[in-house]
Amino acid sequence: MSTNITSVLKESRVFAPSEAFTQQANVSAEERERLVAWADKDPDGFWAAQAESLHWFKKWNKVLDWSNPPFAKWFVGGTINASDNCIDRHLTNGRKNKAAIIWEGEPGDTRTLTYQQLHREVCKFANALKTLGVAKGDRVTIYMPLTPEAAIAMLACARIGAVHSVIFGGFSAEAVADRNNDAQAKVVITADAGWRRGKIVPLKENVDAALAKSPSVTTCVVFNRCNHPVTMKDGRDVWWHDVMAKASADCPAEQLDSEHPLFILYTSGSTGKPKGVLHTTGGYMLGASLTHKWIFDIKDDDVYWCTADVGWITGHTYTVYGPLANGSTILMYEGAPNHPAEDRFWDLIEKYRVSILYTAPTAIRAFIKWGNQHVEKHDLTSLRLLGSVGEPINPEAWMWYHEVIGGGRCPIVDTWWQTETGSILITPLPGAIPTKPGSATKPMPGIAAEVVDKDGKPVPANAGGFLVVKRPWPSMMRTIYNDDQRFKDTYWSNYPGVYFTADGARQDDDGYIWVMGRVDDVLNVSGHRLSTMEVESALVNHPKVAEAAVVGRPDDLKGEAICCFVTLKQGNDPTDDLKAALKAHVAKEIGALARPDEVKFTDTLPKTRSGKIMRRLLRDIAANRVGTGDTTTLEDYGVLAKLRADEE
Ligand code: ATP
Ligand code: MG
Repeated sequence: MSTNITSVLKESRVFAPSEAFTQQANVSAEERERLVAWADKDPDGFWAAQAESLHWFKKWNKVLDWSNPPFAKWFVGGTINASDNCIDRHLTNGRKNKAAIIWEGEPGDTRTLTYQQLHREVCKFANALKTLGVAKGDRVTIYMPLTPEAAIAMLACARIGAVHSVIFGGFSAEAVADRNNDAQAKVVITADAGWRRGKIVPLKENVDAALAKSPSVTTCVVFNRCNHPVTMKDGRDVWWHDVMAKASADCPAEQLDSEHPLFILYTSGSTGKPKGVLHTTGGYMLGASLTHKWIFDIKDDDVYWCTADVGWITGHTYTVYGPLANGSTILMYEGAPNHPAEDRFWDLIEKYRVSILYTAPTAIRAFIKWGNQHVEKHDLTSLRLLGSVGEPINPEAWMWYHEVIGGGRCPIVDTWWQTETGSILITPLPGAIPTKPGSATKPMPGIAAEVVDKDGKPVPANAGGFLVVKRPWPSMMRTIYNDDQRFKDTYWSNYPGVYFTADGARQDDDGYIWVMGRVDDVLNVSGHRLSTMEVESALVNHPKVAEAAVVGRPDDLKGEAICCFVTLKQGNDPTDDLKAALKAHVAKEIGALARPDEVKFTDTLPKTRSGKIMRRLLRDIAANRVGTGDTTTLEDYGVLAKLRADEE
C-alpha cells in the first residue's frame, strides 16, 4: 500500500496580482524573498526584529527557550500586555479618534467605538472584574453574542491577566458546562440573549442550565442585549450595566510575563473531543499582529471585516487581537448572512465601504447556492482584498469569489492555519506572489512548514504527504490546558521535535502547498490514498452542485468505496439521472479511480458550528454504523437523524 496521498487535482490556473496592487503592497516579492532567507538563516534574529513592533514594558533576554521540547518559551524575561498593545498604543500615535470597532446588530442597530472610547470601556470592565474578585491567572468564560462587549470582555481579561475562554454563543448548555469545568472558570460573562436569523438565542437561559453543573463558577455577569426576560440569581448574577456604572475608568495594564497565559480556546471538534488549546501573550501577539499586517496588507484607511465570531480562533486573532494591535478599523456584524435576506453581507460591504473581507469557504458555497442576483444588487467596488479560512477552498468556489465578489481585481489570500498555530502559517502575501485557486501557496516567512512522508522525509513534487512544521514559531500553542500528555501525544509523537498538523498536503512543481484536508479523512481506494477534498472539488465544479462531502465506506474489494453526499443549487431536482451524471463527471474530471460508488442527495450536511463539514459522522452513516464520537459541536442535530432516515 502506498503511504502517500495520490493527488488527482488538475487545477492549473495562475493569477498574478495586478501592477496597481503590487505597487502599494506592504510586502513586495523581493522583500518576501529576503524575509524568508533571513528567517531560515537566523530564526531568532528574525523573530526578535519583528517583535520590536510590539510595545514591551521590559525587553526579553532570550528569544526562544526550546530546552524542554515541545514546551516552548518565547521572548523569555520580557513583560507585555495584549490589551495595552491593542488599545493604549493608539491613544498616542494619532489614532485615538479613529474608529476601532464599527458594529452592526442583526436587527440593524449600529454603534461605533473609537480607540479612546474602547479604552474607557475596557478599563472600566477590567476594574469591574477586579471588584468581582477576578485576579491574575483566573479563568473567565465568555459566552456572548457578537457585540463590542464580547471584545471588551476579552480585552479587559487580558488587561488584568485573567485567562479568557470564549465559547461560541451557538453552543449548548452542556458544552458550556464541560468547558467551565475543564478550565475551572470562576466567572462567566454572558448576555440575556443574542439575535440569530431574526430569532432570540437565549444565552442566559443556557448559562443557568450550565451553571447548575459548573461548581467552580461564583459569578455571572449579564449584558443586556435584547431586553429578553431572564432570571437573575441573587448573590451570583450581576448586570453588566450595574457593575460598569460603579467602575473607575482608570486601570493601567498589568505588566505580564511574555509567557503569561492569554486564553484557552477549545478547538472546533471536527475530529473528536475538543481540546483546550492554551496560548500565551508575547508570542501570540507577535503572530497575530505580524500576519495581519503582511497578509491583509493593512493600511490606515482600510475598513477590515473578518466575519468570524469571537468564539473561534479566527475571531480571536483576526477579529480582535491582530487588527486592533495594528490600529485598524474593524467591522463587526452580529447575525446571520441571510437575514433579513441573502444579500446582508453585500449590503454591509456597500454601506461601510469595506475594503478587506475575510470569510470561510462554507459561507462562499452558501452564497453560490443562493445565486448571484443577491450580489449584483450591490456596489462592491470598495473591496480590494479577499481572504478565505477554515477548510480547503474548492477551486470553483475560489473562482466565484474572485470574479463575482472581487470583480476580478482583488487578490485572494487562502490562509491555512489552526487553533493550535495561533496565527496563519501558510498563505500568499498579496502583491508578493501569484495565486492558484485552491492552494494556500507558501509558508509565511519564518515558518518551516513542509510536506513529508510517514518517516519524516520530504516527498517529491506532486506526491501527497503529511503537513508538518519543523521549527517552533512564536504563536504556537503552549499545551492542552491541564493535559501536557495529550499535547505531546497529539502533536509531537509522530515525528520527534516536529509539529504534526494532522493535515495532508502536496507541493507542486513551483513549491506551492495544496492542503488536501485532514489525514483522518483520506480515502483508501484500491491502494491509492485519495483526498476527499479533491473528489469534492470535482463535484462542486459541476454546474448543479452546491456543496459535497465525500467519505469512504468499508468495501471488501477496494478497501474503501467512495460515498458522496451532495447538496444541489437552488432549482435542481435530485434525480437518478443526475446521480449517474455526477459519477461520470467525477470520473471524467479526475479519472476512473475516483469514480464514486454512491451519490446521495441531501438538503444539508452535518457541520460544526464554525461551518466545517464533519465527515466522521458521515462515515458512520455511510457504513450504517451507530456513531459513538463526540457531537457536542455539531450545528444541527436534526441533520444526522434526517440523513439516517434517508438511509432506510
Ligand atoms: P478539531 O481540531 O477539534 O477537530 P478543527 O481542526 O476543525 O477541529 P480548527 O483549529 O478551527 O479546528 O481548524 C483547523 C483545521 O481547518 C486545519 O487543520 C485544516 O484541516 C482546516 N483548514 C483551515 N484553514 C484551511 C485552509 N486555508 N485550507 C485548508 N484547510 C484549512
Ligand atoms: Mg484540528
